[in-house]
Amino acid sequence: MNTTASQATRPAHQQVAIVTGASRGIGAAIATRLAAEGIAIIVNYAGRKDDAERVVAGITAAGGRAAAIQADVAVPAQVAALFDQASTLFGGVDILVNNAGIIQPGLTMLADTDDELFDKLLAINIKGSFNTMRIAAKRLREGGRIVNFSSSMKTMASPGYSIYAATKAAVETMTNVFAKELRGRNITVNAVAPGPTATELFLKDKTPEQIERLAKLPPLERLAQPEDISGIVAFLVGPDGSWINGQTVRANGGSI
Ligand code: NAP
Repeated sequence: MNTTASQATRPAHQQVAIVTGASRGIGAAIATRLAAEGIAIIVNYAGRKDDAERVVAGITAAGGRAAAIQADVAVPAQVAALFDQASTLFGGVDILVNNAGIIQPGLTMLADTDDELFDKLLAINIKGSFNTMRIAAKRLREGGRIVNFSSSMKTMASPGYSIYAATKAAVETMTNVFAKELRGRNITVNAVAPGPTATELFLKDKTPEQIERLAKLPPLERLAQPEDISGIVAFLVGPDGSWINGQTVRANGGSI
C-alpha cells in the first residue's frame, strides 16, 4: 500500500487506449485528442470502416499511432478479440474509453418500445460497457484508466428517452461500483455524462426547431461540440485526473 505518493505522472511506456465507437462523433474527437497527448489509439468501430480509417489517417498524419479495429461491443468474443489485437499491435492496454452507444429513433415512449429496441439499447449501452470492463479488469496495466459514457438524459428524464436513460443510469452505477472493486490496482473508473452534443446521434431524427430549442437549454446557449467532451476525457485519463475516481462528470453547459 502506498500511503504518500501522488499518482500524478504518466507511465514510462507509451500508453495505449481503446476508444470504442471512435469512427465518428464524440469517440473520433476523443481518439484524436488522446493521440495528440502521445497515447497510441485503437479506433474501434461497428460498421463504418471508412470513417474509422479516416480517423486513423488523421492521427498518423499528425505524427501519432493508431489502428482501426472492428468489434461489436455487444458481443463478448469480439470484445476479447479487440483487446487481443490491441495488445498484439501496441504491447498492452492502459486506457479504456467506453464511448460506443446508441439511442432510440426520435422520441420513443416506453409504451411504444418494442422488444427489439429494448434489447438493442441494453445490449450495446449496458452489456457493451460490461463486456469491455470485465476484460479490462484483468488486462489493464498498472495506472490504468476507464471512462464510461452516460448522458444528461439520465438526470433530465425527458419523455421519449426512458430506456436510453435507464441504460445510462446502469452505466453510472457500474462505474461507481467497479471503481471500488478495483481497489489496490491503481486504476480509476469514471463516467462522463454529456448534454446535447452536435453528432449524428443527437442531430438525426430532429427538426431544426427541436435542435434550436435544445441548443438554448444551457445558459451557455449552444450545443456541445465533440471537442468539448474529448477534453474532459483527456483530463480524466491524464495525470491531473488521477484523484477523481468512481464519479460521473456532468458536462452539459449548465443545463441541469
Ligand atoms: P454517434 O455519433 O452516433 O457515434 C456512435 C459511435 O458508436 C460510432 O463510432 C459507431 O460506430 C459506434 N457504435 C455503435 N454501435 C456500436 C457497437 N455495437 N459496437 C461498437 N461500436 C458501436 O454517437 P455520439 O453522439 O458520438 O455518442 C457517443 C457516446 O456519447 C454515446 O455513448 C452516447 O450515448 C453518448 N452521449 C451522446 C450525446 C449527444 O448528444 N451526442 C449526449 C449524451 C451522451 P460505426 O460508425 O461503425 O457505426
